[in-house]
Amino acid sequence: MGWRWAVLVALEALALLLASVCPGCDRAGTLLCEECRGRLIADPIEVRTPGGLPVHAALVYEGVPARSIRRVKEEGATMLARPLGRALSDVLAARVPAGAVLVPVPTGRGAYRRRGYRVPELLIRRAGFRAERVLRQTRRTRDQRELDRDERARNVAGSMRAIGALHTGREVVIVDDVVTTGATIDEAARALRAVGLRPICAVALAATPDRHDTRKLSVNG
Ligand SMILES: [Zn+2]
Repeated sequence: MGWRWAVLVALEALALLLASVCPGCDRAGTLLCEECRGRLIADPIEVRTPGGLPVHAALVYEGVPARSIRRVKEEGATMLARPLGRALSDVLAARVPAGAVLVPVPTGRGAYRRRGYRVPELLIRRAGFRAERVLRQTRRTRDQRELDRDERARNVAGSMRAIGALHTGREVVIVDDVVTTGATIDEAARALRAVGLRPICAVALAATPDRHDTRKLSVNG
């Protein structure tokens, strides 16, 4: 044991590092290269849900941010939740008023079983904030990626329920990892209002680029 053990652990860590590939540019031997790390710095945009709720997103969902988020969601790369959480933290700090509660969009049972973690909650934790798991999914929904805008809205309508752990009238900020059409955020807002809570806006790590109505695409996206 002793130093031999320490050497083995160090070699294992080195092997892991050498085997890893940057999610942004496929460069080998790094968990995230410096250049791509720079692309994960928050450059916030504001979009709106179909129901009119403002959504503040830290990043545009494309290029390096999209590839990094996919790696967290589909390949278990939870180490990337730290740099991504930092981007989320900038927007949370700017947009969440004192006294407001952060409520993550619920993770479906299947996704949770597959990953072993809830992506929005992991990101909120890495951002250094606290989440209240108020929303539950009440029925299964289809994978939103295969659906168009109207189908997405129908797919999630009435699929969530808020459990009454918070005082009526509390201000709530809904948090999700990626916002596409905003249908999921609207459903979350509906469920929160149904128990007397007041959703004031949503914060997302990233928003898809096709719905930039209030700001142009950033040049480095
Ligand atoms: Zn890279």
